[in-house]
Amino acid sequence: MTRFNTQLVHGLPVGDNTTGAVNPPIYNSSTYAFESVESMPRWDYARSGNPTREFLERQIAQLEHGTRGFAFASGLAAIHATLSIFRPGDRIVVGRNIYGGTYSLFNEYFADRGLLFDAVDTADPEALDAAVSGSGRGSGGADVPPAKAVYFETLTNPLIEVNNVRAISAIAHRYGALSIVDNTFVTPYLQRPLDLGADVVIHSATKYLAGHSEVNAGLVVVLSEDVGRGIYFAQNRFGGVLAPTECNDVRRGIQTLALRMDRQQSNAQSIAEYLLVHPLVRTVHYPGIRADRNRLLAENGLKGFGGVLSFEVVPGVDPAVVLDNLHVFRLAVSLGAVESLAELPCRMTHFELPRAERLKVGITDQLIRLAIGIEDVVDLIEDLGQAFDKAYDALDADALQADADARDIREMAAGLVA
Ligand SMILES: *Cc1c(COP(=O)(O)O)cnc(C)c1O
Repeated sequence: MTRFNTQLVHGLPVGDNTTGAVNPPIYNSSTYAFESVESMPRWDYARSGNPTREFLERQIAQLEHGTRGFAFASGLAAIHATLSIFRPGDRIVVGRNIYGGTYSLFNEYFADRGLLFDAVDTADPEALDAAVSGSGRGSGGADVPPAKAVYFETLTNPLIEVNNVRAISAIAHRYGALSIVDNTFVTPYLQRPLDLGADVVIHSATKYLAGHSEVNAGLVVVLSEDVGRGIYFAQNRFGGVLAPTECNDVRRGIQTLALRMDRQQSNAQSIAEYLLVHPLVRTVHYPGIRADRNRLLAENGLKGFGGVLSFEVVPGVDPAVVLDNLHVFRLAVSLGAVESLAELPCRMTHFELPRAERLKVGITDQLIRLAIGIEDVVDLIEDLGQAFDKAYDALDADALQADADARDIREMAAGLVA
């Protein structure tokens, strides 16, 4: 059995390549010939399966310690296929702080088609237990059947709170519910949720796994054959499959996952420490700066906290001025790629959330999210520093204007009295 870094580079051969090519071939073929009418070819039609996609699917299953992997045209296509295994009337308990597109897919699509969603603070075991059990959840405090699944993200976005996969999965299993984890922010390099009790792992491979802001892709890994059958049905019948060229883009990205992530994390740690002492910054959300970071890592079976962090600027500072003045950071949504990105969650990644909901989960109008890349960290810190200086100048101008206005009014009032 090879180890993780070797698996990143080599994957598992599909047994299709007789040419000696070092890289798995990209098959530009939608159909595969039968040897005879009687034959049962391994691949017959590209939507149902093809060797390029199979390589990636086997590789992600190996990396996540699952039994079967599936590649989709996007993370949301992967989530759609996964949720499609449930039926009208099934109840899903959902972490309170999930990706905006997932929130919208659940509440604006699946809820209209009979699935029931209960949002809960997954860090509160008693609240989670009550929600999964269904006791007292019906009208007039009646009991309802237990939930069919708990759906959550290991590191939440954009506040980077840690969800304990082992604890949450244990509560799900107490009531026969599946534990479904979106592992996009963590990747199998930092944690393998299936080892900690989860049943299904989902990735937006658009982010760290592909890692170069080139493709949209989604991956699902399962443990049980039964769940795998349901997800394969959805993959093959909805047809939201990842094309061979893009499967290869993700495969190539995966080869450097560990190297990129190491640099992203050390850069993120330095930037979080810089922000922590900057006078225009009120709070920094990155578990790496917490005093109990090592306990947090050990308790959660995590190897690190990834390359995304967020912070609030002090009241009176306009976060848009900071963002509009960055030059090395690009002003863009997404994360996990080689280049650093910055964004304003309330206007960009989390605009789907109603403002009241947003504030309830701590995503204020002052919050900026950074997705750290692999550049020289000094360039990133200098970029932030000069943008803060611009925001400080803008703050001063406004303050002076307010002061001047107040003086005018005072003088006018004095004139009236005189
Ligand atoms: C981006 C993202 C998704 C959606 O993935 P797409 O590839 O954009 O469809 C889902 N979950 C998380 C945590 C994400 O960051």
